[in-house]
Amino acid sequence: MPTPSEGRTGSKERDGRKGDRHLALATFVTCSVLAVQSAEPLRVSALARAVRPGELVVLEIAGAEPGASVHVRAFDRDIPAYTTTEGTHRALVGIDLDVKPGTYAAAIDAGGAHAAYDLVVAKRAFRTRTLTVDPAFVTPPESERERIERDAKLLEEVWRSSSPERLWRERFVRPVAEAANSAFGTRSIFNGQPRSAHGGADFLSPAGTAIHAPNAGRIVVARELYFSGNTIVIDHGLGVFSMLAHLSAFDVREGDRVAAGQLVGRVGATGRVTGPHLHCKHGTPPGAPVSAKKRRIWTWYSTCHSSSRL
Ligand SMILES: [Zn+2]
Repeated sequence: MPTPSEGRTGSKERDGRKGDRHLALATFVTCSVLAVQSAEPLRVSALARAVRPGELVVLEIAGAEPGASVHVRAFDRDIPAYTTTEGTHRALVGIDLDVKPGTYAAAIDAGGAHAAYDLVVAKRAFRTRTLTVDPAFVTPPESERERIERDAKLLEEVWRSSSPERLWRERFVRPVAEAANSAFGTRSIFNGQPRSAHGGADFLSPAGTAIHAPNAGRIVVARELYFSGNTIVIDHGLGVFSMLAHLSAFDVREGDRVAAGQLVGRVGATGRVTGPHLHCKHGTPPGAPVSAKKRRIWTWYSTCHSSSRL
């Protein structure tokens, strides 16, 4: 089932921290390079604002033979690489919220040339917050079980069916102008019951606010789901998705192609919420499908907070 989504009201953050710290950290920095070269001199570098759970690392691979196909494997999954206009290759490596601190090797293969890059994942502590929502969204009634399973299957299929082409070309943009809270990664307790970590950013926009596509892509979901209410999922290609939840209205249909910044819908309070807000997630799928009945291990990024050059 989708990760819980919450609104701005009814939230008690235990340590009382407020505000959007992520914005202050939004500038990408270059991390140290540790590449082991063999036949060809591959040069690997990483761009990330931090190497820790819930973050995105952009691996940049230079020195591959022209036309060589580049493969990247990290965190036990294959990660698609794409070619930049400068002729380098890039792969977007998401660090799941559940990854423990430690050193994880990314393996790069480029037409027979190999390199390894050590991703040193730092510890990240997430807060816990308590929220009160309609009890039907914490322990759904038996009558809704079939529908919830159908929603989960639909999303599993969507995550597995990303376009093999990169559909975005520009920077990711904010879907709304309003600030997001700092709830990303927070462990949530709904009506006294622990639920999975909050895998998105909540933008505190009034109901009716226009929502813009974070980047170009194809609308693969534009329908009502039990937990996330009226939901849009945009496939940006290469396994990169944006999910926009709790909408009051849709301005697109499934199958539509959208441009970066295009109007896609309106902020609302549908699904499991405590008030109007936009819940926004970005993510990439794991290599292997996971049963819809298990808790889905999924990588969602906090990049909704800022525009990100990918
Ligand atoms: Zn949320």
